[in-house]
Amino acid sequence: MNKYRCPYCDQQSVSLLRKLILSPIVSYDCSACYEPISVPFKSTLLVVPSLLILFFGANYFSLRGVLTMLTLSLILTAYLHVKFVPLTKAKL
Ligand SMILES: [Zn+2]
Repeated sequence: MNKYRCPYCDQQSVSLLRKLILSPIVSYDCSACYEPISVPFKSTLLVVPSLLILFFGANYFSLRGVLTMLTLSLILTAYLHVKFVPLTKAKL
């Protein structure tokens, strides 16, 4: 199911899975116009909560607690990425 609009041709050519995979260093060629699509560099800040849990959580919580928080954090990160990160033209 293509749901997200290409910033070049405005067609709904980007699927949910493709958007989840996109990062500032990973682009995707639009299936309609073949132009490279990416996401802004500031979208990488969404992984900060997960990294903080990994680095500091082990000192205060059990392994099970850390893994639970990490899983919830990754789900939240994926949700925020899909919901709020815009698709942009890849700068090559
Ligand atoms: Zn396009």
